[in-house]
Amino acid sequence: MTTRPRLLIASANRGKVAEYRSLLQGLECELVSLPDVGISAAVEETGASYAENARMKAVACAAQSGLVTLADDSGLEVDALGGEPGIYSARYAGDGATDAERVAFLLRKLEGVPAERRGARFVCVIAVSTPEGDVTYCRGECPGRIATAPRGANGFGYDPAFLLPDRGLTMAELPPGEKDRVSHRGRAAMLARGVIRGFIDAGRCR
Ligand code: IMP
Repeated sequence: MTTRPRLLIASANRGKVAEYRSLLQGLECELVSLPDVGISAAVEETGASYAENARMKAVACAAQSGLVTLADDSGLEVDALGGEPGIYSARYAGDGATDAERVAFLLRKLEGVPAERRGARFVCVIAVSTPEGDVTYCRGECPGRIATAPRGANGFGYDPAFLLPDRGLTMAELPPGEKDRVSHRGRAAMLARGVIRGFIDAGRCR
């Protein structure tokens, strides 16, 4: 029996691993997560950019596991807030806040800001690292606008507050398959597929 080459997704977040299973479908490799390879310690996100955070996670986990590894970092950038919360999106309303509390915090900050000044984008940077530390980056962006009230129950994070003006829907109102097609993570993953396919073809995924 031949075993399929493996690709490590450097996340312990089951939701994110599931999202990548769907986004990377069809690649000739087996996706494994950190618990699958016995890595439990999370790498702290102390970098000054999405790319740096993604690289730190990918390089550390690839070195520990001996596998080609994908890690990402993502966030929401709001024009009227000078690009905040950006790389601090997960911690914006304080440690331990819920998604709903983060959304409420953001909407309060934008109270009174008119529609034409509520532009925003989701950004995702994926880093793919070999065990030797060779890193390739893939960036995806999704432009939109911050709504005045949350709507929708799909997705996670700031999705209920993120309006896709072309559709007249928030990201949380899109069916999951459709989010994959338009989202920052979906766009970065499309590029990452090509990078990973190259590593598989070159025999660098083991
Ligand atoms: P991280 O990439 O896991 O560090 O996530 C950063 C934070 O950005 C998340 O906790 C969310 O608050 C926000 N975020 C990233 N991607 C999305 C998304 O697809 N929808 C909504 N919020 C997101």
